[in-house]
Amino acid sequence: MDFAYHYTKEQEAFRQEIRTWLKKNVPEEMKRPLPRIGLVADDYSEEQYRFWRQTHPKLAEKGWIHPTLPKEYGGGGLTPGHETIISEEFDRARIPRDFSNPYVCPPLLVWATEEQKQKFLVPIVKAQKAAFQLFTEPNAGSDLASLQSRAVRDGDDWVLTGQKIFITGTGDPDLFLGPFITDPDAPRHRNLGFFVIPCPWPGLEIRRQNLLSGYDSLFVFMDNVRLPGDHLIGGDHQGWQVTGTTLEIEHGGRGAAFPQDEAMESLFEYVRTTRRFGETLGSDPIVQQAIMAAYGESQIDMLLAKRNYWMYQARQEMSYHGSQFSLWGREYRMRNADRARDIMGMDSLLGTDEPRAPFKGLQEVYQRASLVGAHPGGTIEVQKVIVARRLGISRTRERAAATPSTSGVAGV
Ligand SMILES: Cc1cc2nc3c(=O)[nH]c(=O)nc-3n(C[C@H](O)[C@H](O)[C@H](O)COP(=O)(O)OP(=O)(O)OC[C@H]3O[C@@H](n4cnc5c(N)ncnc54)[C@H](O)[C@@H]3O)c2cc1C
Repeated sequence: MDFAYHYTKEQEAFRQEIRTWLKKNVPEEMKRPLPRIGLVADDYSEEQYRFWRQTHPKLAEKGWIHPTLPKEYGGGGLTPGHETIISEEFDRARIPRDFSNPYVCPPLLVWATEEQKQKFLVPIVKAQKAAFQLFTEPNAGSDLASLQSRAVRDGDDWVLTGQKIFITGTGDPDLFLGPFITDPDAPRHRNLGFFVIPCPWPGLEIRRQNLLSGYDSLFVFMDNVRLPGDHLIGGDHQGWQVTGTTLEIEHGGRGAAFPQDEAMESLFEYVRTTRRFGETLGSDPIVQQAIMAAYGESQIDMLLAKRNYWMYQARQEMSYHGSQFSLWGREYRMRNADRARDIMGMDSLLGTDEPRAPFKGLQEVYQRASLVGAHPGGTIEVQKVIVARRLGISRTRERAAATPSTSGVAGV
């Protein structure tokens, strides 16, 4: 069966418009050096970072950052077809997406009031502000509902105290979004509120920690951070449901408009072109076995990504599908990283700063990305728990949380 996309003349004209614009407005030295690989960060120079902070709003103005979000919230008001073409062209030209965490829009779309959408969502969608996700705490990762940071009402304001860790993104955030305990006496899942915290802000302190991913991960400390009442999204005790909207998408519920696996493609190229004892690596039966297993698993991942993207856009009811995709992706990438090490040996570990590294060090980045990618937004084990619950084979059962009709993040 042919799973390739086919485009109309109008869509091809749209593709041409994007190509022409990018060619005219994005200098070669501002493009990302490597393809988008999992969660490993691009190492942007100060100049590149500034360039993209200024250019992303221009791309958003054209509707190319959040193509399928409604125009009234700064989105493109475009179709999934357009979004797929944008993803293809951005990836082809190595154009980075905006620097907000891709999952911050869904909770605002579903839970914010109209005034809050204009105040918080629109600047994010227009790429004027970069928003990061403020969930994990030192004692609350997989079991996020056991978080301890507090929000106490004081007149019309809320006063926040606590600590968050592993908060990641590129550069400096303008906003944080996350859950805090609003009622310490209420049962789990009914004791949280969900807040938007501007940054910088009095009482907020940030420390940076470098991770294997290359991201600056943030420790965020809140010491009596006073926020106006309209920074609470949803009801006083609806924070768990608001968080669930984010997690549903983060766990893979939206799939990907244009899934790609450039690590796989480069591995193919490697075995085709590298010679050992007078023969290409690809003619070695053991290498063939390994690379065919890698290819098959990569294809399954892309089909799951496309299935979820289609289901989401067609507004099909989703249940285990997101976590199934997430689980498969995290596991197969680790297996394929192993296979790449078996096939390429030391070449798979030569980094981006090593001139002899094949494919500019892409495989080394993949090695790190496959390990790092096992954790964020729900580990492999957590995805298994969710799939089991939703398939009805676990002690407890659960349904998917509410999601917006479109979450509008190209290609993620
Ligand atoms: C690169 C990266 C980026 C991140 N970005 C962000 C971000 O932007 N914002 C944010 O808020 N957080 C972020 N995180 C944090 C991430 O969400 C947590 O790492 C994740 O939820 C796991 O929590 P933990 O690290 O505390 O591990 P733990 O919860 O302590 O888990 C430790 C181990 O125990 C296993 N385990 C836990 N519970 C169970 C169970 N019930 N059954 C079976 N096994 C279990 C886990 O699978 C894991 O292997 C990021 C993490 C990374 C690595």
